[in-house]
Amino acid sequence: MKYDVVVVGAGIAGPIVARNVAKAGYSVLLIDKKPAIGSPKQCAEGISIKVFDKYDIPYDRRYINREIYGARIYSPSGYELELRYNEVSGVILERKVFDKMLAYYAAKAGADVLARTEALDVIRKDGKVAGIKAKHEDEPVEIYADIIVAADGVESTVARKAGINTYAPPHEFDSSYEYEMLIEGFDPDLIHLWFGNEVAPRGYVWVFPKDEDRANVGIGIASDHPQTAKYYLDKWLKENNIPMKKILEVNVGLVPVGGFVKELVKENVLVVGDAARQVNPMHGGGMAEAMEAGTIASKWIVKALEEENLSLLQNYTAEWWEKDGKRLEGVLRVRRVTEKLTDEDLDLFIQILSGADAEKIAGGDYVEVIKALLTHPKVLMSRRRLSLLKELL
Ligand SMILES: Cc1cc2nc3c(=O)[nH]c(=O)nc-3n(C[C@H](O)[C@H](O)[C@H](O)COP(=O)(O)OP(=O)(O)OC[C@H]3O[C@@H](n4cnc5c(N)ncnc54)[C@H](O)[C@@H]3O)c2cc1C
Repeated sequence: MKYDVVVVGAGIAGPIVARNVAKAGYSVLLIDKKPAIGSPKQCAEGISIKVFDKYDIPYDRRYINREIYGARIYSPSGYELELRYNEVSGVILERKVFDKMLAYYAAKAGADVLARTEALDVIRKDGKVAGIKAKHEDEPVEIYADIIVAADGVESTVARKAGINTYAPPHEFDSSYEYEMLIEGFDPDLIHLWFGNEVAPRGYVWVFPKDEDRANVGIGIASDHPQTAKYYLDKWLKENNIPMKKILEVNVGLVPVGGFVKELVKENVLVVGDAARQVNPMHGGGMAEAMEAGTIASKWIVKALEEENLSLLQNYTAEWWEKDGKRLEGVLRVRRVTEKLTDEDLDLFIQILSGADAEKIAGGDYVEVIKALLTHPKVLMSRRRLSLLKELL
């Protein structure tokens, strides 16, 4: 088999690349090791409404499970901060359908798609990566391509085999555990997030509603913590008197939250999405980031093929770092500061922040909010809080 481009991984990033490159008229093969693309999923399935227009994805009820109007945040002692919009701000997807449909859109655009096809290694010719050794339905196959895209998720092997340094220590990952379960008593128009060092060390507990009484209920904590994510999630459910006898699905996964792969391209190999650790380090969401990276990568793949100049692929690294990389490095800085907050600090900040402040912080526009906090009497009284907040300016 020989293609212009082979894309390994049909999660979010892979199908976006495959679709865009196929649309431009080049031959593309998209492979995934799963027998059914999208399943099993490892995701809470929440995403901003903005991505549908921005990345040209149909707003299709087949994978939009529920429309969401905002968020409610809970402090360790139970103080609440609500952010509610008049219009739909996000959706809870059905990822098992969404991922498969993204692969379908790639196929419709002209890409070939092969499920149950696992990349095992790269093929090298004269020292250069010339393709992928894979296993399709248990049979070995060799796929040759001018350009290879590693979109194979957090446990990516393809980029590493091609010599791209994707290593990160365990501390730079969050470990997540999630139940899709029957759960009552939460406003199903909002996502719900609980913070606190006893609740979820470094992370948070989430309830992302799918029906009035069904939700993804999960947790992310630092993966090198001595206790497991499941321990903390079960503890939270017990403390909140939520019965654990109606569990429809269990998902476990790692989320890269500690920084991003520096060199995203090595010769003719590109790395995108979770494989490049392109995730928002504050909330662990990575679908929009995978779409953005996939869009930038595919733009430079098409240019490199048009101009028959593979050195143009390097522009993907430069453009990603200029756009998303710079922004996400800022978010990482904020995460590192918020990690140092005590439960008392969290209680205080959730009490004194308004919904409008939270909206600004969520949008990355936090400097004005920090400046205002620096004048608050309860912040002025604490040298530690003052210095933590000043780290953010
Ligand atoms: C518990 C949990 C909850 C999350 N919740 C959210 C959320 O609510 N919102 C959000 O935006 N993000 C969330 N994320 C993060 C989000 O799921 C990822 O950032 C996103 O899926 C990244 O997309 P991707 O295409 O890079 O990788 P993936 O979606 O992981 O896709 C990689 C694909 O590659 C395939 N693959 C891997 N190795 C091979 C191989 N060798 N050969 C062939 N195929 C291979 C896999 O089967 C998979 O389909 C969550 C993550 C976890 C773990």
